[in-house]
Amino acid sequence: MPNRSYFDWNATAPLREEAKAALQDALAAAGNPSSVHAEGRAARRLVEHAREEVAALVAARPADVFFTSSGTEANMLALTPAIETATEKLQRDRLLISAIEHASVRAGGRFPREAVAEFPVNPDGRVNLAALKSAVAQSPRPLVSLMLANNETGVVQPVAAAAAIVHAGGGLLHVDAVQAVGRIACDIGALGADLLTLSAHKIGGATGVGALVRANEDIHIGNPLIRGGGQERGLRAGTENVAGIAAFGAAAAAVRRAQSSETAHTLALRDCLETGLRAISPQALIFGAGVERLPNTTLFSAAGLKAETAVIAFDLEGVAVSSGAACSSGKVQPSHVLAAMGVSPALLRGAVRVSLGWTTTKADVETFLGAWRKLATALSKGQPGIAA
Ligand code: PLP
Repeated sequence: MPNRSYFDWNATAPLREEAKAALQDALAAAGNPSSVHAEGRAARRLVEHAREEVAALVAARPADVFFTSSGTEANMLALTPAIETATEKLQRDRLLISAIEHASVRAGGRFPREAVAEFPVNPDGRVNLAALKSAVAQSPRPLVSLMLANNETGVVQPVAAAAAIVHAGGGLLHVDAVQAVGRIACDIGALGADLLTLSAHKIGGATGVGALVRANEDIHIGNPLIRGGGQERGLRAGTENVAGIAAFGAAAAAVRRAQSSETAHTLALRDCLETGLRAISPQALIFGAGVERLPNTTLFSAAGLKAETAVIAFDLEGVAVSSGAACSSGKVQPSHVLAAMGVSPALLRGAVRVSLGWTTTKADVETFLGAWRKLATALSKGQPGIAA
């Protein structure tokens, strides 16, 4: 779209050129990866090549990558009592999740509602490890789910420390790395994750493709969500989304090459944006500012601001931002993430998320700041619609 400044990369990133080319090439070819003829084998090669690229992105083995239809499906697939290891054939009877997980984790997967418990976060947005430790101590063999970085605040979670606690208590750790991968280091072994969720469209692949990655072949998910033709080694039936998977692989390869320069690029622009924001509105609060955050995310609020109308006002100025998490219904609900951090209802209502990426420019940041200056002036005058 011409003359737009897109600041909603945590909702979805634009398709990378490499991914677009891979998608178009794969769509143009016939062939089912399960067929034995040359066309089938060619489709299989695309899928397996993508598996290698996605595995390399998180330092896993290709054999431990399972493609799904989304990050949501990968989370749903992972969160089941029927996860066994080579040494433990027992069911997991409890799911422990942090209070700031994405809706697809908060839904609890295949655990009965009464078997799911939450552990809290600190006011800075980082998980409370002491509370995790005591929750693990009260739950023999739990499955724990903790995201690597939060989609609203961008706050990076102490996953390796959490993994040590979970493993010492006989549990397994699932990590939703959907927002983190490609933006910060995400090595499944270094994190200590047993299972890791990825989504293609956050790194420049297409929407509707994800992956569940396991740490090693000893981890076994006993009850697939979708049964049928035995694709993805029995874990996810249905003819593979060859083009989407090929594009995911191309995006993974591209992000691996470009991650350090893209991180430096977004971080410099994000710093410039936050400096400008503070200069215009010294009273504006940036959530999680004191702890490690993703280099591309700013979630801020100002007293009296109404996020729903602020998002519309930004849109009219050619700036796409979001009010906390995107939600499919378009209905804005108070952020459970900020509520878990103990943010007051007045500030919670005004939280606006600005997320950047590799095509963001200095001019985009200036456009954003120009739009914010107008809004902040309207807010200071108590203009109806902007002010709550
Ligand atoms: N997990 C997190 C942290 C997310 O931010 C999202 C999407 O925004 C998802 C999971 C779901 O991924 P998908 O859109 O591929 O279903």
